Amino acid sequence: MAEDKKGIGIMGGTFDPIHNGHLLTAQCAAYQHNLEKVIFVPSGNPPHKTEKKITDAQERYVMALLATMSNPIFDVSRIEIDREGLSYTVDTVREFKKIYPDRKIYFITGADAILEIFTWKNPEKLLEETEFIAASRPGYCLSQLGQKIYDSYRETIHPLQIPGLAISSTDIRARVEEGRPIKYQLPESIEAYIKKHNLYR
Ligand code: NAP
Repeated sequence: MAEDKKGIGIMGGTFDPIHNGHLLTAQCAAYQHNLEKVIFVPSGNPPHKTEKKITDAQERYVMALLATMSNPIFDVSRIEIDREGLSYTVDTVREFKKIYPDRKIYFITGADAILEIFTWKNPEKLLEETEFIAASRPGYCLSQLGQKIYDSYRETIHPLQIPGLAISSTDIRARVEEGRPIKYQLPESIEAYIKKHNLYR
């Protein structure tokens, strides 16, 4: 009997910084969708954030490495960081499909980001070529995508509610800037890294 092939999760995000909500999301996605591994892909030069100040990609990459190193099914890829120019999800997914031709690829990211998918590069192609896991806080409704789109992509976009996603990178950066605690919101190694490298001050 042929073995059920496991999927591969591509966990896309800015991860500025990575936190426990992201780690929990990846773990829950792996469990629910029978994923062999989850590869964290920190954005290099996000096309939608050209105006905003983002922490250097190398620092976000190192934090992702530190946060994921104790989990054998987690990996981190430099694919977007090393890509020249603006980085698009459609290109990332295609590269991973070449690396894992016989695996189903799932792109995991925040539901808020997925709500914007029709502003991304080649959205229809992307939705044809991969499945999405849309992580959200409890109570969040993906039907905000619009009923028609929601109905059309019901098989392709899988909602995943994560209680721990009450934690957010934006809030962590604000807390650091204001001198408020961030303990237990992210791994201790990341807290130490932020302190040592004077990030978000
Ligand atoms: P964002 O706008 O910074 O985040 C939107 C929301 O999703 C935030 O609440 C965020 O929380 C959450 N989130 C982001 N990544 C997550 C993850 N992996 N797991 C759980 N929650 C997550 O979104 P972004 O990080 O810039 O973009 C998300 C992904 O979409 C990236 O891989 C990006 O490259 C891709 N994207 C592609 C295009 C394109 O191809 N044109 C355009 C836009 C986005 P936190 O702030 O706490 O993470």
